[in-house]
Amino acid sequence: MKYLPIFLNISDKHCLVVGGGSIAVRKIELLLKADAKVQLVAKDLCSSMSTLQQLHGFDSSVRGFEESDLDNVDLVIAATNDRRLNAGISSLAKARHLPVNVVDDPDLCSFIMPSIVDRNPVQIAVSTGGASPVMARLLRSHLESTIPAAYGELAKLVDSYRDQVKQAFPKVEERRIFWESILEGSVAEYVFAGRLDDARELLDNLILGSTASPDHKGEVYLVGAGPGDPDLLTFKALRLMQKCDVVVYDRLVSEPILDMVRRDAEKIYAGKARAQHSISQENINQLLVRLALEGKRVLRLKGGDPFVFGRGGEEIGELIENNIDFQVVPGITAASGCTTYAGIPLTHRDHSQACIFVTGHRKEGKSDLNWEMLSHSNQTVVFYMGLDNVKRICESLKAHGRGDATPAALIEKGTTSVQRVFIGDLNSLPGLVESNDVRAPTLIIVGEVVELHKKLHWYKPGKEIK
Ligand code: SAH
Repeated sequence: MKYLPIFLNISDKHCLVVGGGSIAVRKIELLLKADAKVQLVAKDLCSSMSTLQQLHGFDSSVRGFEESDLDNVDLVIAATNDRRLNAGISSLAKARHLPVNVVDDPDLCSFIMPSIVDRNPVQIAVSTGGASPVMARLLRSHLESTIPAAYGELAKLVDSYRDQVKQAFPKVEERRIFWESILEGSVAEYVFAGRLDDARELLDNLILGSTASPDHKGEVYLVGAGPGDPDLLTFKALRLMQKCDVVVYDRLVSEPILDMVRRDAEKIYAGKARAQHSISQENINQLLVRLALEGKRVLRLKGGDPFVFGRGGEEIGELIENNIDFQVVPGITAASGCTTYAGIPLTHRDHSQACIFVTGHRKEGKSDLNWEMLSHSNQTVVFYMGLDNVKRICESLKAHGRGDATPAALIEKGTTSVQRVFIGDLNSLPGLVESNDVRAPTLIIVGEVVELHKKLHWYKPGKEIK
């Protein structure tokens, strides 16, 4: 091991920073977070350094470095762009046995600074011993994406209960098992969901022994999986996907996303191809309740966003009636994901000041949409589940005053590697569906913004047909 990882208490310690550029700014920001007393020496201050200095009012001398700057300091950071000057500062500091860091020059350092994941008070430091700062940054971003933002809150909660838990569980081994179940169970989940009062109440009960282990308490995660590209999942979705005991998923959830669910989770297909529901909505609602009552962590995984034509409201309604804990995680809805990947902005200052999401699916063969309103110009209308009725949709819009030549698009399997985009207008759209054998899931977009596709399309999964 070339370096010993340590965490330094520099609260109220005098830390000298030499250099007034953007790298020095970042170092000072860190020092200030750790409550250090900063002393800055620099010939010039960049504008963000001036702002930082005014904001925090730390000592600053706008001049060249002098040896006496090292008097009475506890730590030194040399961050000038003059390598010789940095080297001089380093050797003077070392002669005085002061810890010194020279930015981007590990050979001149007596200590190096790691990449950090900050979940105060939890700090994760990553170092490659100076071998590859880029690698350290990449590792850091992996950690950032897997550690919930509220991990620090959880640490604070645990800290405030340490004495109480010590008394309740005098044996070290018992205490370890208890804390493990807390950090991986419902208490942690409450904290991550911002429900601190519930977390405390459960923790109190668990300490008193009045509640069964949190792992036996079932709950439901209603999670939006986005339109298809797994990279569009949220951090929260991914975390809950890797935690569940059973997943109940829709037809719209893409294969690569399903592959990211915890390997040993039971997988239940709930279908929902339009017109041939494999399990009725009523039965899905009951299934979620039953699985949660069995004590399972149930992932209800839905395409897009669960609250946009996703019947998420009905599902959690049933959970509330049955007093079952749940969380809802929004996903990127098809209208947003598919249009973005097709290079069609939903709104545009010059072309569209509003956008409307509607269902093109007819209830018992009837549509109760307000066609008059949908036919106004300068707005974008997105039809979900409209493929089978594309002809009627185009006719209705035209009959209510939208011009024949209004641009319109079909986006099939948007955001996936087999996405297809077809551009036409209200006259040609039905023909495009037929001649290209367009299949579900497909989104219909109507409005002037569709024209922008010509200029703005950027995602090229395969061949694009016009
Ligand atoms: N809750 C989902 C919508 C469910 S309704 C969401 O927020 O996106 C199902 C309809 O969504 C489909 O008929 C289709 O019109 C649209 N859709 C969903 N995913 C799609 C995709 N990847 N490409 C194109 N359309 C999609």
